[in-house]
Amino acid sequence: MSCEGSSRDRGYREINRTVIRCSCGHRIVSKEVIQTGLYLSVLGPSFVYVRYRCGRCKRVGEKLVQEDAWDPSVLGASRVHTEESDRHRFRDMGEITPEEVIEFHYALGRLSADPEEEANQH
Ligand SMILES: [Zn+2]
Repeated sequence: MSCEGSSRDRGYREINRTVIRCSCGHRIVSKEVIQTGLYLSVLGPSFVYVRYRCGRCKRVGEKLVQEDAWDPSVLGASRVHTEESDRHRFRDMGEITPEEVIEFHYALGRLSADPEEEANQH
C-alpha cells in the first residue's frame, strides 16, 4: 500500500469513474441496463458485466468494468435490482442472523404453499 498524498488519491478516483457509453455515444442509464453480473477472478481483478440496450440506437451492447472501478450510481440507479447491488447491500447489512434465516424459511414456505401439495402430504 502506498499513500502519496490526497491529490494523487483524487486523480485516481476520477480516472476510475466509470461511465458506460454505447458505441453511438449515448450514455447508458439504469433503465437501459438489461443485466449485470459479477465475474470473480482468482488471478486478477474481478469484473462487473453490464448488458444494456441503448435507448437511442436500440442496439444491445455489453461492457466489462473492473469491479474496483464500478459504481452503480453512474447509471443513476436506485431501483435497479441486480445481484451486484444485492451483494453490496448484504455486505452493508453484515451477518445474517438466525432470526432472519427462520423468517426466510417461513417466507419460502408461504410462497410454495399450494393446496395440491398440502393434500398430498396429508
Ligand atoms: Zn446507441
